[in-house]
Amino acid sequence: MKVHWQIAIALALAVLTGALASADSSLIRFCGFIGGLFLNGLKMVVVPLIVSSIIVAMSTFSEPAALSRIGLRTMAFYTLTTVLAVVVGLAMVNLVQPGIIDGQPAKDILGLATGSAKVSEQVSSAKLSDVSDVFYRMITSNPIKAAAEGDLLGLVFFSMMFGIFAARLPGSVGDVQRDFWNGVRETMMGITGVVMRFAPIGVYALVAKAFSSTGVEAIRPLALFFFATLGGLAFHMLVTMSVLLALIGRVSPIRMLKAMTPALLTGFSTSSSAGTLPVTLECLRSRAGVSERVSGFTLPLGAAINLDGTALYECAAAMFLAQAYGLHLDFTTQFVIVSMAVVTSMGVTGIPSASLVAIAVILGTIGLPLEGLGVLLAVDRVLDMCRTAVNVYGDGCGAVVIGRLEGEHDILKPPQ
Ligand code: ASP
Repeated sequence: MKVHWQIAIALALAVLTGALASADSSLIRFCGFIGGLFLNGLKMVVVPLIVSSIIVAMSTFSEPAALSRIGLRTMAFYTLTTVLAVVVGLAMVNLVQPGIIDGQPAKDILGLATGSAKVSEQVSSAKLSDVSDVFYRMITSNPIKAAAEGDLLGLVFFSMMFGIFAARLPGSVGDVQRDFWNGVRETMMGITGVVMRFAPIGVYALVAKAFSSTGVEAIRPLALFFFATLGGLAFHMLVTMSVLLALIGRVSPIRMLKAMTPALLTGFSTSSSAGTLPVTLECLRSRAGVSERVSGFTLPLGAAINLDGTALYECAAAMFLAQAYGLHLDFTTQFVIVSMAVVTSMGVTGIPSASLVAIAVILGTIGLPLEGLGVLLAVDRVLDMCRTAVNVYGDGCGAVVIGRLEGEHDILKPPQ
């Protein structure tokens, strides 16, 4: 049986288990242990894989002009998709108005005075304190620290610089560098393959645990917000991205979805797009046929700065809370929310619940109390799984579109 079918079956069984077993049963505790091991296995390869993939990709650009062309195209595509995602989120919340119940702001119904202590604590320990922080983290003063803390932004930037200058080394010194990093990358892909053999078990464990603690009860008062966000995420992934794939990339969106299935399922179950990166790289390389040169550059960069699902969620959540508090949502306020969602999503690291930090920044900017975040916690788990899959898909689409623009004809080719 193909591995994505195995994962899909594991997923279905896990939802069932999660619904039936209680969160403190020994089965679920055991699932927590197994899921943690699987996640660690993936995370273990992330840092060396990102560094080596970027360095290898950089060394294939012999002329600076090719590098700046592909760099500009990638940034333009990622910015475009993030903006489109935020606009979809904005439209959904304006359409459904989940923060207004019977014409009144839903502040009291949502009990907006609860859970603030927990949330404030979470927010004050967060790394992203304001927008300028994004740039500070990008040009990191300590790449080793960035690697140890899983801070992709600093790591990606440093690896790019390293790759560009290593590629310029002459003679055997340069060859040694290229061979070495190639070897590191191949080794990491090998380890990823082994970890992925355990994916069905890992996915089962992670999802059973997640669903055992998120009952339907938690979702009920926030159902409108939950489904509006879910609708937005689905629209972005299935409609917006399909149009872009077909128009710019001239490839079949259905084939893209099929090629990405293992990465989407892994993103969904781990809620970490950064942790899923090894699987995403493998899908794009061997299932979609994107070259190492393009995937090695676009995917790690995308994992660091292109989080479409996160941007959409941030915008939807901030708008929802603003509605619930009865804030007057004039054009300026909405514009601030949209721009902040685009910028802060670029600074969010692809780990579980990372959006909450960025939402705190947005709420602070538009002057709303942070206690609103407590309300989001109830539905955050499942929405996190969905937006992470969208984040992963966005990076994959970036690699495909850029690969096609670079003239790669084998990408998602129909079977002969
Ligand atoms: N969990 C998301 C990711 O890893 C980030 C977030 O939106 O919380 O992509």
